Amino acid sequence: MSLDTISLSGKKMEVSNKKMSFWESLYLVAIVKGLLITIRHLFTRKVTIKYPEQRRELSPVYRGQHMLKRDDQGRENCTACGLCAVACPAEAITMKAAERKPGEEHLYREEKYAEIYEINMLRCIFCGLCEEACPKDAIYLTETKVMVASASKREDFIYGKDKLVMPLEMALRNSKNKVS
Ligand code: SF4
Ligand code: SF4
Repeated sequence: MSLDTISLSGKKMEVSNKKMSFWESLYLVAIVKGLLITIRHLFTRKVTIKYPEQRRELSPVYRGQHMLKRDDQGRENCTACGLCAVACPAEAITMKAAERKPGEEHLYREEKYAEIYEINMLRCIFCGLCEEACPKDAIYLTETKVMVASASKREDFIYGKDKLVMPLEMALRNSKNKVS
């Protein structure tokens, strides 16, 4: 078989310049055929859903928006070691470390914490490598099941700590559930 005749899709057709018959030139048969295809699809199972009113069930391993975790006492776990940023293949994570000051022990678990922690959601490919690289159980994607919201400005996709850090109430609720 020559390379010219190979069709990967199986839909390859030779273009013909033959003159159309009278019926073909009316296009009636072609229009009726097209309408029949449309009508047939009215009775087949729909593959689309009415998002956002309807939502598909997410896989148990779905990787949603990142969350920077707090421990049972509500302190941020992240120690700004930078391993997640190094592991990130999309270079989506940036951070600035700071030293914990006396009296801030209730806010940060480690002596060093991320003063600034940002993820560029336009760069992120949700691979989960940041979660795997973290030695402090501080960053999660698989538990959140939250989709990154759409936005019209690029800067709205730079998520800072205000959007990433686990809400305090959630951390305290989790610790209560563990005790009971
Ligand atoms: S999920 Fe992957 S791409 Fe996104 S921030 Fe983490 S390591 Fe980078
Ligand atoms: S999230 Fe984890 S890996 Fe990333 S800087 Fe914080 S402690 Fe280090």
